[in-house]
Amino acid sequence: MRQPVIAANWKMYKIPAEAQSFLTAFLPLMRDQRKSEVVLCPAATDLTFVLAGVEGSSIRVGAQNMHFAEEGAYTGEISAAMLTALGVTHVILGHSERRQYFAETDQTVHQKLITALKHRLTPIVCIGERLEEREGGKTEEVLTRQIGIAIGGIDPAQLAPMIVAYEPVWAIGTGKTATPEMAADAHRFIRAEVARVANKSLAESLRILYGGSVKPDNAAALLSQPEIDGALVGGASLDPQSFAKIVNAA
Ligand code: PEP
Repeated sequence: MRQPVIAANWKMYKIPAEAQSFLTAFLPLMRDQRKSEVVLCPAATDLTFVLAGVEGSSIRVGAQNMHFAEEGAYTGEISAAMLTALGVTHVILGHSERRQYFAETDQTVHQKLITALKHRLTPIVCIGERLEEREGGKTEEVLTRQIGIAIGGIDPAQLAPMIVAYEPVWAIGTGKTATPEMAADAHRFIRAEVARVANKSLAESLRILYGGSVKPDNAAALLSQPEIDGALVGGASLDPQSFAKIVNAA
């Protein structure tokens, strides 16, 4: 039985006062929520604030990125130890916006994954094909490469906490969602690849989230697919009511 995960990626939105308004509205809506692991991933500057705000609740807090080095002369970067010292439990790795705008590669995702696991952070590893790759029939090739390089060479026992988010790039922030069947097919393929590269038991327990224009009105159909173990939500997670509806759809 894989516990669903519903994670909010706030991207570069919300100053602390806006995060506070969100929490004021959102936390009461989560009071009776037991089924899913709910994770808020605010901007780095909001982490301390959101961690204090969710104290005493079951809501977890994740970062949107981190560096793979333990420490060093990396101006502007944040280490795993810096995150865990605050109480952060999750970290998004390899989001397509980081790959597209900040030169994140399959190799850096791999290095970050090793570091996150070492520091007992729960990594949410994002993979997914671009539109031209899907249209060119290359979806499986891309997913094979991305997941293979990310987890390749890592002891499967170490990978147990990892979460994967399948986020087709053409569906992120575009309002275009993969159909539940398309998402489920990709998840099935990713699970088979994890079984091949690591092992079957890791693949069976691996939680694979779908991300890409998940909204309150399409969440139930996506989340009812047995292969879809939760959602990584961008735009619709900025609003407390709409994010709560998605959590409750799981
Ligand atoms: C994301 O940022 O991971 C995402 C899925 O965004 P959106 O829900 O806005 O498509």
